[in-house]
Amino acid sequence: LTVLGIETSCDETAAAVVSRTPEGRGHILSNVIRSQVDEHAEFGGVVPEIAARAHIEILDGLIAKAMREADLGWDGIDAVAATAGPGLIGGVIVGLLTARAVAAASGKPLIAVNHLEGHALTARLTDSLDLPYLLLLVSGGHTQFLLVEGVGQYRRLGSTIDDAIGEAFDKTAKLLGLGFPGGPAVEKMAAAGDPAAFRLPRPLLDRPGLDMSFAGLKTAVRNAAYQAAPLSDRAVADLCAAFQQAVADVVGEKSRRAIDHFRDLHPDREPVLVIAGGVAANSAIRGRLEELGQETGARLVAPPHALCTDNAAMIAWAGIERMLLGPVDDRHVAPRPRWPLDASADAVLGSGR
Ligand code: ATP
Ligand code: MG
Ligand code: FE
Repeated sequence: LTVLGIETSCDETAAAVVSRTPEGRGHILSNVIRSQVDEHAEFGGVVPEIAARAHIEILDGLIAKAMREADLGWDGIDAVAATAGPGLIGGVIVGLLTARAVAAASGKPLIAVNHLEGHALTARLTDSLDLPYLLLLVSGGHTQFLLVEGVGQYRRLGSTIDDAIGEAFDKTAKLLGLGFPGGPAVEKMAAAGDPAAFRLPRPLLDRPGLDMSFAGLKTAVRNAAYQAAPLSDRAVADLCAAFQQAVADVVGEKSRRAIDHFRDLHPDREPVLVIAGGVAANSAIRGRLEELGQETGARLVAPPHALCTDNAAMIAWAGIERMLLGPVDDRHVAPRPRWPLDASADAVLGSGR
């Protein structure tokens, strides 16, 4: 099985060709990506209209490049998969309609992929990984624990009640004048800082369950920044380090609970915790989860950085996983700005989104 994947839900335009070997391994034949960071930098965040226009301008060329690098003609492709949501709707429309056109012209089926399912299944592209597993999805728009019971079968165990972690990183960076995107900038500064220099809260750790909250932490960073103003480079580094450590503490403790919960549900299975989404690129968070894995005996699976942030290889792979379940033809699926991973397809379609 070989699938062309297309991703346009946010500010990266991406195309990739991925195949599945007869042994069930994922094989990335090409994976091209063009980030629009420069286009959005002066606005301090992604501007939806600019993103949609940029996708239109470069997507055709990127698809051609992905096909060229894979060294395949259309005969070599079994299907075209594209993100159909959730995301910035202008970009999703560009990607999905382009995919629909390519599928029609090449006579291949179209697979409408949930972007979050792409993140959720990435670890099965890179590692041999059986179901069920625990997924910590931490991205720009989402922060949740899911139990991945099967392809298309996701049970939400807990999630943020306000900001996503990536969003908290981005807002913290903006507040401290570190630019956009914030995650990598905060991580870089944090490396030179002392996390003990500022005391920040660990929201919701005092309550049972797997829900999280990060808006209060971001506000605490703002208050600390005002109190310490004018901020020296040293103080900025310390605040970044304190913020990152607070996030790692929360994620670490909630993950410990998630692993316990997995053990209760599946006492006969080795617990596996998969981390996915752009924030999974953060080494402090990864490090914390690796420690947790050693302590609890759970297996931690973290895909390489480039496959944690948005990319089209994960969309192509999700398409492959869907094809393995049976024939797919999603030509009539509409782009969706919202599309929770744990809702059944019927519920989503029924809601009119
Ligand atoms: P979603 O997948 O929820 O629709 P998205 O696609 O915008 O959102 P991703 O591309 O998966 O999100 O991740 C981007 C987010 O990851 C940004 O918020 C960014 O700041 C964050 N991020 C990237 N690298 C790091 C890092 N090293 N440390 C912390 N956060 C990071
Ligand atoms: Mg992005
Ligand atoms: Fe994403």
